[in-house]
Amino acid sequence: MTTIFEKIISGEIPADIVYQDELVTAFRDIHPLAPTHILIVPNKAVATVNDLSEEDAAAAGRMLLVAGRIAAQEGIAESGYRLIINCNRDGGQEVFHLHMHLLGGRRMGPMVARN
Ligand code: AMP
Repeated sequence: MTTIFEKIISGEIPADIVYQDELVTAFRDIHPLAPTHILIVPNKAVATVNDLSEEDAAAAGRMLLVAGRIAAQEGIAESGYRLIINCNRDGGQEVFHLHMHLLGGRRMGPMVARN
């Protein structure tokens, strides 16, 4: 099933793309939870972390490298930021195209809510 992120990667629907190369695309989250809230996704449609295979290693590694570069561009590398990948129901995943949230520009607070 095609997700909205595939359409953003291909340019079919608009997004505020901050970075794109042959492996990954990064764009601003449409409902930002912090002054910087960027999603970094593999260009290949991988649904969740569970679906990654050895052949995706370069894209998965690139996601992390690009996160650091974008954090520097956004001026939050030194102040700090949080990277989040949600997986399936308990992780709170809503879009089933693997994505890493890059959040910063304010204190992020506790890592997870206490129940
Ligand atoms: P998750 O809960 O980890 O699956 O996060 C999905 C994220 O995608 C949410 O933070 C949404 O705000 C974001 N999102 C959904 N549609 C779009 C869109 N068209 N452009 C940018 N971000 C989006």
